[in-house]
Amino acid sequence: MGFFDKLKQGLAKTRKTLIENTEALFRGRTVDEGLLEELEEVLIMSDVGPQAASAITGSLREKVRQGKASNTRDLKNALKEEIRRMLKEGTGIMCAGEKPYVVLTVGVNGVGKTTTIGKLARRFTDQGFSVTLAAADTFRAAAIEQLEIWAQRAGAQIVKHRSGADPAAVAFDAVASAKAKNVDVVIIDTAGRLHTKTNLMEELKKIKRVVSKEAPSAPHEILLVVDATSGQNAINQAKIFNDAVGVTGIALTKLDGTAKGGIIIAINKELNIPVKLIGVGEAVEDLQDFNPAEFVDALFD
Ligand code: GDP
Ligand code: GDP
Ligand code: MG
Repeated sequence: MGFFDKLKQGLAKTRKTLIENTEALFRGRTVDEGLLEELEEVLIMSDVGPQAASAITGSLREKVRQGKASNTRDLKNALKEEIRRMLKEGTGIMCAGEKPYVVLTVGVNGVGKTTTIGKLARRFTDQGFSVTLAAADTFRAAAIEQLEIWAQRAGAQIVKHRSGADPAAVAFDAVASAKAKNVDVVIIDTAGRLHTKTNLMEELKKIKRVVSKEAPSAPHEILLVVDATSGQNAINQAKIFNDAVGVTGIALTKLDGTAKGGIIIAINKELNIPVKLIGVGEAVEDLQDFNPAEFVDALFD
């Protein structure tokens, strides 16, 4: 299955609520204020978020007024265009310039951090880059073992300490090891438990501090992983992590598992952080660079 078909399949549930409900709403209707109001409700129900839903219908209202969307077919095209405009161009994740290129991965428990790291590592090694993974989720031994399996699959190296060890020390050693071995990319896994005795945000700040001691421009990317099935909660998580450590990009996982993929529109509207990666399944190739044009095509066409 091709890349675009994977994306399309991954968005099937969202397509079913967002697009099919829109089409059902538009059937046999003329374009008027009542229709626009009902459309706003459909958007909100797909987790597009109240701000984005209101902005989208506002723009559509203006197009209707200008005579640019006088029938439902034109209105649907205008809707696609408005959503497309709202999605900021992502840059994907590239390891450019600095060596090692250090990616610090953060996010609450279970969102898909370790899986995303595994997929990303595999992508880099496929591109011919060498990769070191840092097992800085030292909270449970199982977390270290899970990352080891991904390292093997991806052909990446791993730096690990005993479970319970200081996460900052693991991250530091991984960067030092990568420097010594001339490795291209370091990806740091972290814990995600918000309610433990050690404050997660302080732990992440310390990792950041310690890593920049070894490589002054690192970490180059602070990738927040959020789970699309968590709906509006994803927005709250992004705000908390961004305040604490300064997030440079978002990986939105599990889009395949939700009908509320509209959350990506809310994220783009409400946060000033680009979505760089999307997860549309559990296989390696299901981690894709986020491309707004492809995304709306997969959703609408
Ligand atoms: P972590 O606690 O943040 O490290 O999360 P994990 O990487 O352990 O992932 C938790 C679960 O989410 C695992 O069962 C993954 O296979 C699953 N997962 C991660 N990304 C995706 C995705 O894009 N789609 C689906 N369907 N499952 C995913
Ligand atoms: P503090 O523990 O809160 O005082 O934070 P620090 O910034 O002093 O660093 C804390 C941890 O990071 C230490 O316990 C070390 O394990 C690790 N760390 C910091 N600097 C180094 C270093 O130069 N080498 C290694 N291996 N680890 C370091
Ligand atoms: Mg994990």
